[in-house]
Amino acid sequence: MRINVTRSSMPTMDEYMNEVRSLWESHWLTNNGEKTIALKAGLENYLCCDHAELFCNGHLALEALLRAMDLHGEVITTPFTFASTTHALVRCGLTPVFADVRPKDCTLDPDAVEALITEKTCAILPVHVYGCLCDTERFEEISRKHGIPVIYDAAHAFGVKRNGVSAAAMGYASMFSFHATKVFHTIEGGCITTGDGELCQRLAVERNFGIASEESTPGVGGNAKMNEFQAAMGLCNLRRIDQDIAARKHACQLYESLLTGCVRFLPPQAGVTSNHAYLPVFFENQAQRDHVYEALKAREIYTRKYFYPLITQFECYQGKSGFDPAATPVAAGLAATVLTLPLYPDLSDEDIQRICAAIREVIA
Ligand SMILES: *Cc1c(COP(=O)(O)O)cnc(C)c1O
Repeated sequence: MRINVTRSSMPTMDEYMNEVRSLWESHWLTNNGEKTIALKAGLENYLCCDHAELFCNGHLALEALLRAMDLHGEVITTPFTFASTTHALVRCGLTPVFADVRPKDCTLDPDAVEALITEKTCAILPVHVYGCLCDTERFEEISRKHGIPVIYDAAHAFGVKRNGVSAAAMGYASMFSFHATKVFHTIEGGCITTGDGELCQRLAVERNFGIASEESTPGVGGNAKMNEFQAAMGLCNLRRIDQDIAARKHACQLYESLLTGCVRFLPPQAGVTSNHAYLPVFFENQAQRDHVYEALKAREIYTRKYFYPLITQFECYQGKSGFDPAATPVAAGLAATVLTLPLYPDLSDEDIQRICAAIREVIA
């Protein structure tokens, strides 16, 4: 039986039907209806943040944030991420400047970031890769010292906390993705969390064509609203989120016990409650990684080279100055040797045993 790298967690059909039933009474399908209002409140509570502004997806949430902040110039970021992080910067007319990452958690190295700050730097955009939290304290220091805002791509970090502090409360603002493959999802969806209420107003305008009121359109905004059916899926999934994360944790522990000594795992982070969003493992070299990837595929076990290639290796950025994979050797090494293994709440122990036995056999 085929095992995919992920499988979306879903409520029962009855639960979802009960949730959306009222929409047939109200006929209010989008534009800040009862479901999006309820989900916003539920997320602000669960993520322990002042404000969570909802969007139709995480990528457009990030673009809206960059626009609402009125940024111009260079943004220091990581090449070891999903296409969205860099594409959002470029599509908003900003220049990404790539710093290297740390092997222990794949997140941006604050010292490397600080060394790249110039008078053109307008923001820092680190990513909580795989849900591993960045060194947010050092980034806070750098932010204060240089007067530059730090905004996080927290697409992987739903529900993650360090010493009780939520990822959603770190930095000036954070973007979360609620895509179907994420720990918490609304089919497609996302949000910006921030402590700045004034930013929220600008985000709401940016999200809805730049319209502030019936007769006032101060901005050239796009359309990035979450609709009521997405929010209803979110309300259902939020009821089950702790259970889902516990099931992911169980799966990760079983993987570790079966693969210790065979592949490298990322060490747990001190004080961090993980959401077990992904299970990255690292091989000795690219040849071994690629061999395992292909051999598992032949057994109908689908892993993912996540993230490979680096953003700086994308065809769309070839020949652009500043896009040099050799400039971030740690990130290049991680990209060449990583696989994320199948992980989702209802992945069975038997499937994990089959996957681990296959990996051990292929490497031997
Ligand atoms: C999923 C993801 C995004 C984009 O989110 P969407 O909701 O799919 O638009 C951005 N950054 C990272 C790191 C992601 O994994």
